[in-house]
Amino acid sequence: MSRCLSDDALERDLAELASVAERAHLAGCAACAARHRRIRGELARITDVLRDTPEPRTRPVPARRRRWMPAPVALAAAAAVLLIWVEVAVWRAVTPVPPTMQPQEVTAILADVSAALFSVSGDPPVAAAEDPRLSLEVMAQELDHALTGGAP
Ligand SMILES: [Zn+2]
Repeated sequence: MSRCLSDDALERDLAELASVAERAHLAGCAACAARHRRIRGELARITDVLRDTPEPRTRPVPARRRRWMPAPVALAAAAAVLLIWVEVAVWRAVTPVPPTMQPQEVTAILADVSAALFSVSGDPPVAAAEDPRLSLEVMAQELDHALTGGAP
């Protein structure tokens, strides 16, 4: 008679996957037959428990309460907002505000710029070349003075 079967071999027999030699040993060995019955009983109990036990109920997870920010984080955020507000206020106070331009000035400057930009020869029109008031440098100065508020 061959050696007694391992638990794996007995489980294979329960799954009807045992070899002919394993089945022959099991049929003739009382010890292996007893182990075979014990394993079958355990598997039957596991099967019953899995089949008959209701699934555990799931409870809805209570929604977490909204928590306030921790005090240090709130203070840091408030300090950052205050710092930005102060910076903007200081920047506005320091930055010179150009005087408002009259619409006629804006129209004249834009016409000059347009004439310079869209001239075919690359220079201002001939009439502008003769008129020193319409040269590019003069126009740039006019624009600069108009925007910064300086005297032309
Ligand atoms: Zn045996």
